[in-house]
Amino acid sequence: MSARTAVVTGSTSGIGLAIARSLAGKGFNLVLNSYTDDTDDTALAEGLAAEFGVEAVYVSADMSNAGDCRALIEKAAETFGAVDVLVNNAGIQHVAPIDKFPVEQWDRIIAINLTSAFHTTAVALPIMRNSGWGRIVNIASAHGLRASVHKSAYVAAKHGIVGFTKVTALETAGHGITANAVCPGFVLTPLVEKQIVDLMAETGESREDVVANRILQKQPSKQFATVEEIGGTVAFLASDDAAQITGTTISVDGGWTAQ
Ligand code: NAD
Repeated sequence: MSARTAVVTGSTSGIGLAIARSLAGKGFNLVLNSYTDDTDDTALAEGLAAEFGVEAVYVSADMSNAGDCRALIEKAAETFGAVDVLVNNAGIQHVAPIDKFPVEQWDRIIAINLTSAFHTTAVALPIMRNSGWGRIVNIASAHGLRASVHKSAYVAAKHGIVGFTKVTALETAGHGITANAVCPGFVLTPLVEKQIVDLMAETGESREDVVANRILQKQPSKQFATVEEIGGTVAFLASDDAAQITGTTISVDGGWTAQ
């Protein structure tokens, strides 16, 4: 059997890139994605292909745009003949109280963090059903299970994607396809780095104090989860050992949601 193919949205940095690396390590061919179209993006795909001995391409597609989301999956199927693993990872954050939350930021977060997964899944499902095997992994968050102040759009989108994951699991059960959501706690990526810098400016506190008292205060382990730990969790969900795990959430959050 030829190698299976994985599409990872938002995979040029942070968690998405680590997921792509973990899947390549298991022999999956890769479709990398972001909204940019730079030589760096193509070079990243070529580098991963050489490092892991798989095939990898970069496809530019803006996950805030419905047509782009659908075209990404079509392009992946056209290139590799299948879409076996779909990881809906692309996501953004904006932090503000509800009454001051910019409408365009709300719309953008819902589009990228939630609606994009509907579009990619809708196109991927017939392809997966046709091959009788598929894995959909949605990168939700501890904020898919718990709330925090000033993160209304993000919390709404992440709770939404947990619900969407469950429906996807029910509609695919018995077809060799699973759908699950991974719920990371805080992971030190550019998305969280921005929150640290913004909080330092807002409070005048040191980086150490912001990290300890405002970020990791929610995470009983007092440690960031690593991108590799999220990648490893997704690779497990993509394996045959996880065939009966579907419609559920897996938290990688240092105990946050045990509270
Ligand atoms: P990141 O900013 O490092 O990476 C986000 C990725 O999404 C980048 O590759 C970026 O290019 C891509 N992206 C952004 N907008 C896009 C668009 N319009 N179209 C296509 N791609 C786009 O952030 P991250 O921390 O790695 O986040 C990845 C996912 O993990 C997100 O869904 C995020 O909500 C989730 N998550 C992150 C944390 C954390 O602590 N970092 C915790 C829980 C969940």
